[in-house]
Amino acid sequence: MIGNLLIISSPSGGGKGTLIREVLQTTPDITFSVSYTTREMRKGEMDGREYFFVSVEKFQELVAKDEFLEHAEVHGNFYGTSRSQVNKLTESGKDVLLEVDVQGAKNLLAKVPDAVSIFILPPSFATLETRLRMRATESSGDLQVRLRNSFQEVLEYDKFRFVVVNDDLETAVEQIRTIINAERHRTNRQDAAIQGILDGFDAAMHRFEKEPN
Ligand code: 5GP
Repeated sequence: MIGNLLIISSPSGGGKGTLIREVLQTTPDITFSVSYTTREMRKGEMDGREYFFVSVEKFQELVAKDEFLEHAEVHGNFYGTSRSQVNKLTESGKDVLLEVDVQGAKNLLAKVPDAVSIFILPPSFATLETRLRMRATESSGDLQVRLRNSFQEVLEYDKFRFVVVNDDLETAVEQIRTIINAERHRTNRQDAAIQGILDGFDAAMHRFEKEPN
């Protein structure tokens, strides 16, 4: 069975990092596809865990080799989703979570219309600004860029199948888990399991017909 692709986007400071960590830790059969980026590694990040941190030259080499399912320039850096990683992970049968910006989400949805897309909306601009400032991971210039870009990003909410307002963390995690669970129960995503049950009915019916009343 092939796992679902789950696309999660939000403006920087939407709180998706913590949300995604919680969802990954508390949901069975789900995994994360680690993207490539040319941005600098932040304190506390590890190469191969949050991202594969590469030079612009290496990134361009990967683009030329068609290694990206999608790639985009976001806030002045390049980011890309690894095609080989996504294929390997979905083939393992697990759901694969992709954390991408809104351009990445649109490109992925054009290629994989059946992917499950979730937009994480901060409850207000003030909350987003506070979260970004408290995180203190960006220089003041980068912070301004991210705050400015958030106005365009929130307007893209209607390209997504679901919207989760990230006010209370626990509630938002629960809502995402509910979406993942509901998507796993879509009829077409259970075809193989249903067929097994129907085969059992079929065999039983033949036995039933042969037996005298
Ligand atoms: P950050 O630098 O804060 O980790 O991420 C900045 C933005 O890049 C976020 O909106 C994040 O979702 C997005 N991003 C991370 N990985 C990818 C990717 O592989 N593709 C695209 N298009 N965006 C990404």
